[in-house]
Amino acid sequence: MNAQSIDARSMAGEAPLIRLRGITKVYGEGSAAFRALRGVDLDIGRGEFVAIMGPSGSGKSTALNVLGCLDRPSGGRYEFMGVRVEALSRDDRARLRRRHFGFVFQGFNLLARTSAQENVELPLLYRGEAAAARHAAAARALQAVGLKGWEHHTPAELSGGQQQRVAIARAIVTEPAVLLADEPTGNLDSQRSHEIMAFLADLNRQGITVLMVTHEPDMAAYAHRIVRFVDGVVASDERNASPTQPGSPVAAPATEPS
Ligand code: ADP
Repeated sequence: MNAQSIDARSMAGEAPLIRLRGITKVYGEGSAAFRALRGVDLDIGRGEFVAIMGPSGSGKSTALNVLGCLDRPSGGRYEFMGVRVEALSRDDRARLRRRHFGFVFQGFNLLARTSAQENVELPLLYRGEAAAARHAAAARALQAVGLKGWEHHTPAELSGGQQQRVAIARAIVTEPAVLLADEPTGNLDSQRSHEIMAFLADLNRQGITVLMVTHEPDMAAYAHRIVRFVDGVVASDERNASPTQPGSPVAAPATEPS
């Protein structure tokens, strides 16, 4: 299954964006085997903003890795835009991941000695895009997260909140359908956390589907739907009728940094 036929199917409106049925994930073998996911059923529509909560060890990150095609389920069915992901080859799965998913992690995961601009360009480099197109797209993505003027700074020269904004720019530079965020505010203070949530909420308003693992109720409150995992299954799945409405995301600095 190639990417073109994936898009053709989605345009035909045949399926929800994501459908998980009976997804299992077993780590290890024999007596050491651990069932991290024990039969997850979940549908996610295009444009949703979903918070995934639950106690530590309940399978949230494992589920996010399966959803983002970083990891294969041990069993069950995963349809993304109507395509059976678990049946794809490793290469096709990687292609699907690079084309449709962006990732933001708790630890930012930026290259240390590399400028913000180059960090953001990286996914485009993997895709083989030409330099001029990479530069322009990365500059736009950095501007979108309020970092115009900071392009040539390395992560060490940026605050934690700014580093996470670079990571968000890197995640959206490929214009993914889905943004997956694993505890994106876990390393940030309260004010910076709310700034990051304002950006995620803003991206969602622009149409990106956002799936975010968090254990912080204040952050989950931005989502429109809260899915709770317990012991490797979905224990509850609720609409949030009044999600937190962020103010406008932090504006670009009026003056360029020195
Ligand atoms: P959560 O994100 O809810 O804290 P995880 O999905 O990270 O939970 O982990 C679920 C369970 O699977 C945990 O008990 C964890 O120890 C186990 N686990 C996760 N990754 C691995 C792995 N690579 N090998 C073995 N066990 C793992």
